[in-house]
Amino acid sequence: MSELEPGVAKPRMNVESFNLDHRLVSAPYVRVADRKRLPGGDELVKYDVRFTQPNQAHLEMPAVHSIEHLTAELMRNHTDKLIDFSPMGCQTGFYALTLGLEPPQFIQILEATFRDILAAEQVPAANEVQCGWGANHSLEAAQQAVSQFLAQRAVWGQVMAQAAGETEVPAGEPEVPAGEPEVPAVKAQVPVSEAQAVATEPAN
Ligand code: ZN
Repeated sequence: MSELEPGVAKPRMNVESFNLDHRLVSAPYVRVADRKRLPGGDELVKYDVRFTQPNQAHLEMPAVHSIEHLTAELMRNHTDKLIDFSPMGCQTGFYALTLGLEPPQFIQILEATFRDILAAEQVPAANEVQCGWGANHSLEAAQQAVSQFLAQRAVWGQVMAQAAGETEVPAGEPEVPAGEPEVPAVKAQVPVSEAQAVATEPAN
């Protein structure tokens, strides 16, 4: 366990997520990680799409890899503003870099893309010509993780574990599709089935 204590001042780091206390978040969530205004006036908006609770659970690499391929390909059917979709090295989530997609738009696109993943019959570019490790994929594991992430759609906007009413809600109000039962505001702490109990890498 980390020796870092809550509230202890630490030097500001260059990487945004290195300044995030990963013990205080409540995955799954979708969070604006960074904004950068370009000289021409456009704004880059980067999202932290967190699947599993940091340092408690993580996705196995074939799931991570296939979610990366599927999302990178399928999200571009919904938007031309996705610049990059990449996995976190800690295997707990992904970063999506966008050209000015604001949270309400991004959340809609993310949800639509993940529903596409559930319907996918293969992982795009999972071969030795188009990928650096074409054998390291699992459509089934990717769909299982995405299905669990989608099931918690109502709480994607709740990033921090405590004081839900006072935390930032970058994802906007969740929309519960008609006909589906409402997901309670309390997150079920159900680990992703293929996740292991202890992550062995730094949280990012
Ligand atoms: Zn690949």
